[in-house]
Amino acid sequence: MAGKRISREKETIRKMIDLYEKRCPQALDEEGHYQRLNAYADKRLDKCAFGEEKPACKRCPIHCYQPAKREEMKQVMRWAGPRMLWRHPVLTILHMIDGRRPVPELPEKYRPKK
Ligand code: SF4
Repeated sequence: MAGKRISREKETIRKMIDLYEKRCPQALDEEGHYQRLNAYADKRLDKCAFGEEKPACKRCPIHCYQPAKREEMKQVMRWAGPRMLWRHPVLTILHMIDGRRPVPELPEKYRPKK
């Protein structure tokens, strides 16, 4: 079961994607597209190498997203981020605090071999 930090991040991402889909004029009109993007993001979080200690994905040295998904997520966050504060102030502030966490040491399997 996901811990507090991962669960909160999932919730924040779900709300941001939802807002983007419903309100952003640039959102794609393609059945199920954003549900799939959300499911993809959830899966990345479930498998995150840092687990509950994770840094913000945008500062992550591994960055486990496929490039196209990463770009799309950046676009969603750029648009939805500033609009979240009024709708979900607590989640947004916690998300901002999480974003400033230091990046932990890379897990062993990702460290360069000496
Ligand atoms: S990008 Fe980095 S922090 Fe984000 S889910 Fe992937 S491994 Fe974890």
